[in-house]
Amino acid sequence: MSNKPANNIQDLQYFGEFGGVNPSISDSATYTFLHAKTMLDTFEGHAEGCYLYSRHTSPSNLYLSKALAAMECTETANVAASGMGAITSVLLQVCGAGDHIVSARTIYGGTYAFLKNFAPKLNISTSFVDITSLEKVEAAITPSTKMIYCEAISNPLLEIANLPELSKIAKKHNILLVVDNTFSPLLISPQKLGTDVTIHSLTKFINGTNDTVGGVVCGTQKFIDSLRSVNDGAAMLLGPVMDSLRASSILKNLRTLHIRMKKHSENAQYLAEKFELDGLKVVYPGLKSHKDHELFKSMYNEEYGFGGMMTIDVGNLDKANELMELMQHENLGYLAVSLGFYKTLFSAPGTSTSSEIPLEEQKQMGLSNGIIRFSIGLDNDIERTYRAMRRCMTKVGVLK
Ligand SMILES: *Cc1c(COP(=O)(O)O)cnc(C)c1O
Repeated sequence: MSNKPANNIQDLQYFGEFGGVNPSISDSATYTFLHAKTMLDTFEGHAEGCYLYSRHTSPSNLYLSKALAAMECTETANVAASGMGAITSVLLQVCGAGDHIVSARTIYGGTYAFLKNFAPKLNISTSFVDITSLEKVEAAITPSTKMIYCEAISNPLLEIANLPELSKIAKKHNILLVVDNTFSPLLISPQKLGTDVTIHSLTKFINGTNDTVGGVVCGTQKFIDSLRSVNDGAAMLLGPVMDSLRASSILKNLRTLHIRMKKHSENAQYLAEKFELDGLKVVYPGLKSHKDHELFKSMYNEEYGFGGMMTIDVGNLDKANELMELMQHENLGYLAVSLGFYKTLFSAPGTSTSSEIPLEEQKQMGLSNGIIRFSIGLDNDIERTYRAMRRCMTKVGVLK
């Protein structure tokens, strides 16, 4: 396997049961064995190519898992029914009562809520830190810390995690570095930068059509086997299983991810530059004004650019809402949470995806309520989009 993620996906050659160009969709919850002995071996996890029960693995899920492992250059992977299904499985696999996690404080709202409100019920505690301060990260590590958790590009502030340095800290303390790479598939390959476990919500860019939720955990064979263990595997026992039909459709969409990511990035870069020139407060990793622009460049796979996510601070929530409603009315995108769709999506994170984070903390981390988060779509004529967005901004008084 090369370290070029898109080539690895391209090079996968799967045949359907009858020579189909797409692999056949597995339509069974359970599987027969010709010999009783093989069933025991499969239960114990060492019967290559045998299937036991679809909560464990299914052919369709294995095809998709293998493709995602190829993309992330990891030994293997395990898909889940949602991003949260993947994330919580990893957290609960690694941590038990008394354990501690050092997490970035700007993370997906659901992950934040899980660590803040749910994990303490199991006596798992979390210190939320500014992930861009390596000193603060290291200072938060205690003897019971089991992992550093962060997002490669953080949600919604688009801060960049210094993965090579975080990896050094994790190795020094003999703990795991777990990275949610949902915002930056193909752009960033966390594994190549020293990450131990890479997670995605497939719901976003990877699937790209907003017709399903899905997740994946990419890592070593040993770690993925532990997640799937019939005795104590979190994925196996909590049961967030993806359906075969969905795995099959996500796999087909994955095949065009490289083309889509380039277009998302090209369009977002164009709009970010234009709106910054217009005098707006724009945050986009591809802008020289982004505080981690150089760090991002030191880590990214250049051909995919800086991604499709951008924020603009229009001052206050009322203006943000007015502008978003108008942009939707003008068919420039949808006022909706989520990201990675072919049409542009926008939402105000303070009142939506990050609303789980208390106001006081939102303020502390620089999450103003005038921020609009954009997931820029695949518009063919982005100049036309810019002109139309600009008209909306002028109309609501965000621009002169
Ligand atoms: C959406 C998202 C998740 C959760 O994924 P689901 O598929 O909705 O469960 C996790 N992390 C990030 C960064 C996300 O954007």
